[in-house]
Amino acid sequence: MKGIVLIMDGLGDRPLEELGNKTPLQAAKTPNLDKMAKRGLNGIMDSIKPGVRPGSDTAHISILGYDPYEVYTGRGPFEACGVGVDVYPGDIAFRCNFSTVNDDFIVTDRRAGRIRDETSSIIAKLNEMKIDGYEDVEIVFKESTGHRAVLVLRGNGLSDKVSDADPKVEGKSPKTVIAMDKSTEAKKTADLLNKIVKESYNLIKHHPINLKRIKNNEPPANVIIPRGAGAVPDVESLNDKYGLNSACIAETGLIMGIARFAGMKIIEVEGATGGVDTNLDNIINTIMDNVLNSDYDFFLINIDGADEAGHDGNVYEKLEFIEKVDEVVVSKLLTLENTVIILTADHSTPISVMDHSGDPVPIMINGPDLRIDDVYEFNEIAATKGGLLRIRGSDVMDIILDYMGKSPKFGA
Ligand code: ZN
Ligand code: ZN
Repeated sequence: MKGIVLIMDGLGDRPLEELGNKTPLQAAKTPNLDKMAKRGLNGIMDSIKPGVRPGSDTAHISILGYDPYEVYTGRGPFEACGVGVDVYPGDIAFRCNFSTVNDDFIVTDRRAGRIRDETSSIIAKLNEMKIDGYEDVEIVFKESTGHRAVLVLRGNGLSDKVSDADPKVEGKSPKTVIAMDKSTEAKKTADLLNKIVKESYNLIKHHPINLKRIKNNEPPANVIIPRGAGAVPDVESLNDKYGLNSACIAETGLIMGIARFAGMKIIEVEGATGGVDTNLDNIINTIMDNVLNSDYDFFLINIDGADEAGHDGNVYEKLEFIEKVDEVVVSKLLTLENTVIILTADHSTPISVMDHSGDPVPIMINGPDLRIDDVYEFNEIAATKGGLLRIRGSDVMDIILDYMGKSPKFGA
């Protein structure tokens, strides 16, 4: 028996006047999702707990059975995992921006003219960085998409209790990083970070790519500004925790980072953009191929487009994307046998809010041996009448393992 948790990111919504007081999911034509609801067990879910507005990261951590309040120390470690840096418990990881500073060290462009695809050789230069007095700390940079990068500090006596260097606005210098507690570890890390910011400028201001950018009247990527410090926590891998052989098919670095962090294998999909223009055919073909032909027995799948449309406040884009997922992806999922499928969202991204909200999301389960309930369509409202009632994200792994026949008995 195989298991799939498919997350339609940001799917949940609130009723909209322009849709006749229906949510986009209610208003969308979704014959395949409705068929799944009819065959299955339905309910609503708070991915963390009622009223908490989850990030995609904390929601996924919770759905995978980890306590986000314990594991989530900041964006840095997950971002680092997402771009493929091997991190170890105790490492301190940061998200970084390449920015542009002028000769007075004032930030003139926080995103270095949204530099694209040229940062890897600048990163190579940054990775030569040595800071006097901190020879015991390994400094690792890695490029992410566009103007983004990550920084990992590895060594003894470091702390994630340090402030951000990002001034958040242009026209100011990078902020001096300060210790957020009185520990010597935080003081050491803050001092080191301040030196790293300065030294990054010395190392890369005359990098050939920057000289070329200046010549082309583009802002050079001449400084690196870290934020979002997080200490890499020590967690058991998903496979050890549940006795699974798991894989993740996701579109964004953030979700892949969480999966990598949980020790899951990442299966990449060509043409997956994380937007409403993503290649859903490639996504479902990758899912079907791996469910049918690989040794993996558990899959976490994230399809991101509905969240993007929600953030943009674009109601018809969200509705049409839901219909496309129904037609292209869900239709094929319905053909899988010997598979327990949980289909849900990580959080709501209501059009009216244009951000994540604490509204619970609909959740449904399909599988060979279930107590089918009386819900006949898949949406936020119908789901409230289902047999699953209201569960939390932290219940999902226990429930799917039970239906997969892999749940250990608790007691005699
Ligand atoms: Zn999300
Ligand atoms: Zn979002």
